[in-house]
Amino acid sequence: MKIIETVAELRAWSREARRSEKATGKIVGLVPTMGALHEGHLSLVRAAKTDCQAVVVSIFVNPTQFGPNEDFSKYPRTFDADCALLATEGVDAVFAPQPQEIYQPAAATFVEVEGLSERLDGASRPGHFRGVATVVSKLFIAAEPDRAYFGQKDGAQVAVLRRMTADLLLPVELVVSPIVRESDGLAMSSRNRYLSPEERTQALVLSRSLETMQKAITAGERDSEALIATARASLATEPEVRIDYIAAVDWGTLLPVEKVVPGNLFAIAAWVGSTRLIDNFIVG
Ligand code: AMP
Repeated sequence: MKIIETVAELRAWSREARRSEKATGKIVGLVPTMGALHEGHLSLVRAAKTDCQAVVVSIFVNPTQFGPNEDFSKYPRTFDADCALLATEGVDAVFAPQPQEIYQPAAATFVEVEGLSERLDGASRPGHFRGVATVVSKLFIAAEPDRAYFGQKDGAQVAVLRRMTADLLLPVELVVSPIVRESDGLAMSSRNRYLSPEERTQALVLSRSLETMQKAITAGERDSEALIATARASLATEPEVRIDYIAAVDWGTLLPVEKVVPGNLFAIAAWVGSTRLIDNFIVG
């Protein structure tokens, strides 16, 4: 497995993969991550390995997507363990740049997906999606992938990146994989390691309240306010957990819907102690 630190090397690697005699169809797959890898990330890697002939995983804790009072400096960095996992998965290359490789000191160009960037997580984390859209477009330009793999776990991020890719005419197909959960339902996240044992138990209320909503939908409820009230009641069973938002939205625009239809996104963000967790489901 090749470890790549510069954009020039990444681009050369990608172009070389494309020149290979075996290259047919979907060739280069990119899995963008911030490291501290878990089974959720590995599900994206496996999807990429199934589809593509050469897979690169980026590991980059992107400073521009963190707010000034967020966890950028304490975000878990487990590079050696991550590389060991990725080597076992048969990944071809890891792109692990230093921040100055991605952001020149005078950098003045950012990607803003207007409207979408201010909704859901964008409302509570101003500038977050601008940072995400900027770094992902840079990764697309540098790696020139045919396909890029993202998790439904970050449901609003998927909407922002789909809009960005279409608007910027980027020749990349986005592939979205389902949420991977722990056996008790907690959505896997690199931030779960911040949770104390007590908070880890409290955090289960997120997936439980989504399940309650799903059951209500199955039982015939379509009114999003009623469904959100169900989720709020369920979240209230853990008074220590503070809701950031609960929303039922169109997955394309991230605008609220009154009546839910298949394909809508139900998303929750909540604080468990000082850790902000997110979870969601797509109405089936
Ligand atoms: P991150 O390292 O948190 O930026 O995540 C990198 C990618 O992994 C994103 O596309 C996430 O949506 C995806 N991801 C994170 N957690 C999960 C999960 N539990 N299941 C599926 N994908 C995930």
